[in-house]
Amino acid sequence: MMPPRAVGPGVLGISSTWGVGLMPSAPPLACRAGVVSCAAVTITVVGSIAFDAVETPYGSRERMLGGAATFFSLAASMFDAVNLVGPVGDDFGEEEMAVLRTRGANVDDVERVAGGRSFFWKGRYHDNMDTRDTLDTQLGVFEHFVPKLSAASREAEVLFLANIQPGLQLQVREQCERAEFVALDSMNLWIDIARDELIEVIGRVDCLILNDEELRQLTGKPTLYTAAREILGWGPSIIVAKQGAHGATLITAETYFSLPAYPLELVLDPTGAGDTFAGGFVGFIASAAGGAFDDNVLRNAMAYGTALASYTVQRFGTEALLQITPEDVEERVADLWSFGRFDRIESALRA
Ligand code: AMP
Repeated sequence: MMPPRAVGPGVLGISSTWGVGLMPSAPPLACRAGVVSCAAVTITVVGSIAFDAVETPYGSRERMLGGAATFFSLAASMFDAVNLVGPVGDDFGEEEMAVLRTRGANVDDVERVAGGRSFFWKGRYHDNMDTRDTLDTQLGVFEHFVPKLSAASREAEVLFLANIQPGLQLQVREQCERAEFVALDSMNLWIDIARDELIEVIGRVDCLILNDEELRQLTGKPTLYTAAREILGWGPSIIVAKQGAHGATLITAETYFSLPAYPLELVLDPTGAGDTFAGGFVGFIASAAGGAFDDNVLRNAMAYGTALASYTVQRFGTEALLQITPEDVEERVADLWSFGRFDRIESALRA
């Protein structure tokens, strides 16, 4: 695979759409034309499809479309065809359904439950924007949800088990027998109340994507590295630690690779950053060689996840993911590549 386009020293500037950020000094490359094929495989995602109420130091929203599967799908659908699986209540309107269908996502398995309420989450961010309090979680239609996937969703080559009850993740995992690459996300709530089920489903996936702190909570290990090594013994061969404003780290048996978060002057709303990252990461793996991956594919996947997440946090909710273009994403991936690279100069150190 070709490396992303190298850019010269970036300049801090103002782009009309995305405000102050780091802009490369050369024009962006067209969207990976000729590098990987588009819509090579299909990705199925199950997870929350929600209404979110969010308070940040920069503003608030009382009810906007959110949910882990929603953010994932909006990001992953930039790479491949996505099947969305999950229930919504009859408070979920046609307008929200239209957003779920972005970039042709298949919503046949988005079940509208008559008389039910959609999943609802309310959160308040602290001043540092990296930590938040969950003020309310209402499972609504997820409480009695029994996933019955259509043939199209069951036959996907790539499966993402987004954050939801681990028991539901397991039921979906069992139905997708043909999936060649399966990734999973979760959160502290499920580590607290459904740890055994969570460990069982982790044992059935290839890749675990979790917050740094949650990896340590799950394993009781003191460092990210020891926590990841422990989980590599449970079944997954790839661990990705999400580290908020500090970026993300990839750990496999052979690899340790870290990327910083994309530098931004203003973060408006971090909600969905992790799920957007997962959509970019898994979406890239799916599109590159149809799910077969090597170390360099994983590193590129980290960059696409990071670039996509950087757009999400610049707007409230899903607003940014509905506006960005392939060129926007390529531009930030190229910047990320240039931030990390250096040619080794061996020093004549004094003993
Ligand atoms: P993130 O900011 O990437 O961690 O994801 C935020 C999204 O996760 C929000 O849109 C919420 O609707 C959703 N969410 C929050 N808590 C839960 C939960 N317990 N189970 C499933 N989804 C959740």
